[in-house]
Amino acid sequence: MQSISPETIFRGENAWKKALPTITTSTVSPLILGRSMSTVNLRNIIFSDLKNQNLSVNSANLQFDCCKEDISRIKNIVLNNKHDSIIAVGGGKVLDSGKYIAECLNIPCITVPLSASTCAGWTALSNIYTKNGQFIKDVKLSSCPKILVFDHKFIQTAPSRTLASGIADALAKWYESSITSSEVNDGFVQQAIQIARVLRDQLLIDGEKAYIGELEANISWCNAIEACGLTAGLVGGIGGEKCRTSAAHAIHNAITQIITPNKFLHGEIVGVGILLQLRLEELKNNNKLADQSIKQLLELMKKLNLPTTIAELGINVFENQNLNKIADFACRDDSDIHFLPFKITKQDIVEVISNFEKQKIIA
Ligand SMILES: [Zn+2]
Repeated sequence: MQSISPETIFRGENAWKKALPTITTSTVSPLILGRSMSTVNLRNIIFSDLKNQNLSVNSANLQFDCCKEDISRIKNIVLNNKHDSIIAVGGGKVLDSGKYIAECLNIPCITVPLSASTCAGWTALSNIYTKNGQFIKDVKLSSCPKILVFDHKFIQTAPSRTLASGIADALAKWYESSITSSEVNDGFVQQAIQIARVLRDQLLIDGEKAYIGELEANISWCNAIEACGLTAGLVGGIGGEKCRTSAAHAIHNAITQIITPNKFLHGEIVGVGILLQLRLEELKNNNKLADQSIKQLLELMKKLNLPTTIAELGINVFENQNLNKIADFACRDDSDIHFLPFKITKQDIVEVISNFEKQKIIA
């Protein structure tokens, strides 16, 4: 079975208001799940709108991440208060937790992304982390959220850094799916790869204008946020398991194993992962276009103030065995890196990352 998209999607300005009647007929006692203090005002609006619909509404916050401590605590809140749905309101970690808990308890999840930083509002997938933010595993869910509310006015309140992160994460769809799945003999997978290509082209065109946020760039902004928050999810939905993530996300997962004082966003780390994946393709697959792709990406990433090295993510790979730790995790038996159509060893990762980081120090 393949769940391609949420059952119902509301998008655009005032999507939340438009969604209210449908939400009211789907739940009588929702739990609003959130996390960040910076979104508390929006969550209060959502809370009182639902209360005004005579719903028996309650709210809870993640303390850490999409981790087992938070998941079991929130599960108990849902069970003790007999909530019949979860409305996950926030960024990727909140959306992933909401979807996962709802699936475990067999109740519907409604996602309300408050930034364009990921496509987690759309997908039937949750990434599970430790409470310190170290990636553990991704869990395939039986379905996409029941309702997705992608309200542009809400997204507008998010820091531009979240959009840059979403752009990097959405770009990865093309670089990862085209290398892992171009030989797959399934029309859906091939169409998903082509959507990922169009998505990348659109972000190369609109990304910077959307990020700068000039008034006349409004169409670019709408295109970019929907590309990151919706279309990237559609690629995953149509492509399914065969349209896989690979090295960029495997390297992301490995980098999160190193705990740093400053937390970086998912897409900010994935962006560095794309550059390293292209270097691996150059080294192991004789990809002559990789260098060109890196130059093209670097130009955009610099304009979006995205990190372009592991050092810029606050990690010196030449200290504390960090390089070994990253290479070990990236090459684990169940790592997505092995979906690449060529063999990758730990030594390859060490070589590519150390050259990459040294080059940057000289530059
Ligand atoms: Zn991602």
